[in-house]
Amino acid sequence: MRENISDLEFPSLELTDLANFRDTMEEIASQYSAWRHVEDSYAKQEESFELEGWCYCCACPSQFLTDYLYAAEAGHLEKRVPNWRERLLCSRCKLNNRTRACIHFLEQVSKVSSKSKIYITEQSTSLYEALKQRYPQLIGSEYIREPMAKGAIDKNTGFRNENVTCLSFDDASINYVLTFDVLEHVPDYKNALAEFFRVLATGGMLVFTVPFALGHKNNIVRAEVSVDGEIKHLMDPEYHGDPINDEGCLCFYYFGWQLLDELRTLGFTDAKAHYYWSDAYAYLGEHQVIFSAVKE
Ligand SMILES: [Zn+2]
Repeated sequence: MRENISDLEFPSLELTDLANFRDTMEEIASQYSAWRHVEDSYAKQEESFELEGWCYCCACPSQFLTDYLYAAEAGHLEKRVPNWRERLLCSRCKLNNRTRACIHFLEQVSKVSSKSKIYITEQSTSLYEALKQRYPQLIGSEYIREPMAKGAIDKNTGFRNENVTCLSFDDASINYVLTFDVLEHVPDYKNALAEFFRVLATGGMLVFTVPFALGHKNNIVRAEVSVDGEIKHLMDPEYHGDPINDEGCLCFYYFGWQLLDELRTLGFTDAKAHYYWSDAYAYLGEHQVIFSAVKE
């Protein structure tokens, strides 16, 4: 059993731009190697294994199941490395690494409360279910492709339909907008950011994750939509799992630090990346980040 959790602080470093990231990486170089060493020592050859740690969501020690689902090959190790971000499932609450970290972040950094009006751009997921138990006022949605009014509820699934580039919510009506691994699938993501700014109340916070190239100033554009609506692939098409669509969802971007500048241009303040890792909480994996920005 690893160390006990003496405080509940979210284990992260705050980063604001590319230069800040580079400086921080130099400062924490030995720490960074130690983290990779820990991960390498845990990556076993067995098809599945469990690590011990503390589940923030369950508020107690737990075991975290890891296997090689969604795993990539790691050249320097000559063995497969688990997809730490999507695995490390708590044996009690069944939530994976990134989902547990999101909840931890929302409570300890964002200070979400039971009175907060929260909108999350997902509704069919275990993260939505876990947050709904904690915050009964939570509103979730899915992007339902068949013609359906925005804000309408699908009578078969019960899901609310929202398009992030054109939300049904009133101006300044939401305290927290949460969007995890969605913006990379939205060709005109800037319209989505503007919509999030519009619906947030003063003091409200946007919290999100996206595929992020920490060493890049500019976004990596993988695909774009031409004026006649055709998709043009600039790189090998990459599709991510979509909980309500078996065909998956095309990834248009790996974002760079330009994204935080775009948030600032839209009027957001305090835009930053929270770079996290923890052995004790079983938040393993290289370069894990959650982003936040405030509407003052
Ligand atoms: Zn748990």
